[in-house]
Amino acid sequence: MGSDGAPQEGFLTTTVDTVVNWARSNSLMPMPMGLACCAIEMMAFAAPKYDVARFGSEAMRFSPRQADLMIVAGWVSYKMAHTIRRVWDQMADPKWCIAMGACASTGGMHRCYGVVQGLDNFLPVDVYIPGCPPRPEAVMHALMDIQEKIRNEYSVAQDGIFGKEQPDIAPRKPSIVTPDGKDTISPSGLYTQ
Ligand code: SF4
Repeated sequence: MGSDGAPQEGFLTTTVDTVVNWARSNSLMPMPMGLACCAIEMMAFAAPKYDVARFGSEAMRFSPRQADLMIVAGWVSYKMAHTIRRVWDQMADPKWCIAMGACASTGGMHRCYGVVQGLDNFLPVDVYIPGCPPRPEAVMHALMDIQEKIRNEYSVAQDGIFGKEQPDIAPRKPSIVTPDGKDTISPSGLYTQ
C-alpha cells in the first residue's frame, strides 16, 4: 500500500499455511473406493458433465501412494473393511475421507451382521454425504467442504506431528466395533483377522 493509500504493484504478503493449504486444497487426488451403486454417481462426478477438473480433483488415483482423498462409495462389508483400512494406512498424510451415501455413512438399509454400520467405525471420516445415492453435485459439495476444511483448519505445523502423539486432533485410528457391540478389533489386529 502506498503512502497515498493506493495499492502498489510488485509484491504481496501471505503466510506459508495459506500458500500450502491453497495448493493442497486445489489439487486433491481422490482414491475412489467404489463398492456399490453409489460408485456410479462418483464416476459421474469426475465425468465431463460435472467436470470436477474445475476443482483440480479430476485425477483419480488407484494407488494409495498418489492419493490424498479417499471417497468410499457404497456399503462396506466387514471383510472389505480390512482392505479399505489397509489402503487408507498406505496413503500418505495429510489425507481426508468422504463417506458417500447412506450405506457408507451408516450402513443404510443393510442392517445386518455382515455390513459395517458406518465407515467411522474404522476410518476418520471428514464429510458424510446423505442420500441413496447422492447426486454428483452432492459429492462436489463434499469436495468443497474438504477444501474449506483444509484452508481454514489445517496447518503445515501438523505435518510434523502426524504419526506421533496428536493431542489436538481427533483420533484417526478408531477400532471396528463388532455387530454385537461387545468387542472391538484394533487397527493393528486388522491384518491378522
Ligand atoms: S446409499 Fe443407496 S445407492 Fe449408495 S450404495 Fe447404498 S443402496 Fe446403493
